[in-house]
Amino acid sequence: MGSDRSLDEFLGDDEGSPNPDDASDADATDEDEPTPATTIYNPDGGDCEACGATVTRRWRDGDALVCGECKGW
Ligand SMILES: [Zn+2]
Repeated sequence: MGSDRSLDEFLGDDEGSPNPDDASDADATDEDEPTPATTIYNPDGGDCEACGATVTRRWRDGDALVCGECKGW
């Protein structure tokens, strides 16, 4: 019974995780704050495509990259 065995291995691996360092690892790779995929961080600054302001962090608004002011939360 191959399928039965693989299921057993899967469950055992899931429960027997020796070091659950997933959370701490993800934390360490981020510099200051988490950067969601919807934002672009550019240390040199980039132009907002709506108002032309130069900002380090821009958000995707459709095809454009806009500053936090123009994103309009
Ligand atoms: Zn803007």
